[in-house]
Amino acid sequence: MSLVLSEEQELIQQAASEFLKEQTPITHLREMRDSEDPVGFSKALWKEMAELGWAGIPFSEDVGGAGLGLAELGVIVEECGRTLSPYPFLSSVVLAGGAIALGGSEAQKQEILTGLCKGETLLALAFQETGRFSPWAIGTKAEKAGDGFRISGEKLFVLDGHVADHLVVAARTSGSSGEENGITLFLVDPSTQGCTVTRSSMIDSRNAARVALSDVTVTSSAVLGEVDRGAEILNAVFDRATAILSAEMVGIISEVFERTVTYLKEREQFGVRIGTFQALKHRAAEMFCEVELAQAVVLDALRALDEDRPHASRVVSAAKARCSDAASLITCEGLQMHGGIGMTDEEDIGLFLKRAKTAELSFGDAAFHRDRFARLTGF
Ligand SMILES: Cc1cc2nc3c(=O)[nH]c(=O)nc-3n(C[C@H](O)[C@H](O)[C@H](O)COP(=O)(O)OP(=O)(O)OC[C@H]3O[C@@H](n4cnc5c(N)ncnc54)[C@H](O)[C@@H]3O)c2cc1C
Repeated sequence: MSLVLSEEQELIQQAASEFLKEQTPITHLREMRDSEDPVGFSKALWKEMAELGWAGIPFSEDVGGAGLGLAELGVIVEECGRTLSPYPFLSSVVLAGGAIALGGSEAQKQEILTGLCKGETLLALAFQETGRFSPWAIGTKAEKAGDGFRISGEKLFVLDGHVADHLVVAARTSGSSGEENGITLFLVDPSTQGCTVTRSSMIDSRNAARVALSDVTVTSSAVLGEVDRGAEILNAVFDRATAILSAEMVGIISEVFERTVTYLKEREQFGVRIGTFQALKHRAAEMFCEVELAQAVVLDALRALDEDRPHASRVVSAAKARCSDAASLITCEGLQMHGGIGMTDEEDIGLFLKRAKTAELSFGDAAFHRDRFARLTGF
């Protein structure tokens, strides 16, 4: 099995790298952060990205997508990791868009995914209710009310929820918090009475929201997939999101590694370039090995999902565990090897650490995924 990019994927990577380095270098994220931009990214640039076909990569052609796979999307998201581009691939395309593609009716797909592929519609998946990823800890209730449902509860860390045109909300139609069965997904218009979306600021300067639902009424046509069986969709969506986030982490650690090696080759101390010290070379060599291993396992995970391999979830967990460990090691090493300036806001290196830390804790950290890998393997 060859774990290298195909010719087509290499072309996508080249185009994404050029576009993102030019249009969204790290100064772009800084501008959004420092001006407290209400969106957190440029909607005009997102539209341009969509016109390049990026927002529609994993969707079928009948909704305006490109009908490609996660491996192709991963190539773009990896490049986003290198420039810390805060664009809504994870929130709109993979999480909420993925849920609609997997569970939505033809009408729901046509109505929402076509706008998403054009870069005109933004989406968010509201599922998390606790500080850490705990997929079935869902207490938000959806009770039958007339022809539809009445939803009440509170969601945290709803990625890009503050600008979403449609929310996909996971609520409990039966069972109790912690149980996988009994969850139903609903399409909710955030402007519906009783729905309050509050932006929350994250350490990585990215966007999330707290969504409070107080007797939000929806009709039965808002149900996505089958009542009580939302976890089936969510399981697949979480695997995809975890693999795509891991691809972003590969971009982050590759960039941090390259920037650190450049610094080691340039910075002079005690009359020599600090990269000539063997102690630092050994640390750089370890970083290199970790980047290579992470890259390989993430590509395998994305392909395993695209090919619908029976043990794809296992590979996804292996990828996220490895990326979380590698990201922690490499971003800390990068910051340390930049000396005191690594700590300052003026240097970009610390911004990678902040994004990596958020990514590490999203969709399960290394311990969560080692445990999941063990369970899926039957240990
Ligand atoms: C060469 C050198 C060596 C040093 N050695 C040491 C040492 O050995 N020990 C030690 O304790 N200190 C050391 N320092 C000092 C230390 O690095 C800095 O004091 C510390 O990192 C604070 O940096 P700052 O004052 O530049 O703050 P800032 O750059 O302003 O940043 C402070 C924090 O706030 C965040 N932040 C800033 N603006 C925003 C915003 N708008 N929105 C969100 N977040 C924001 C930053 O990301 C950062 O986390 C050293 C500094 C230098 C330059």
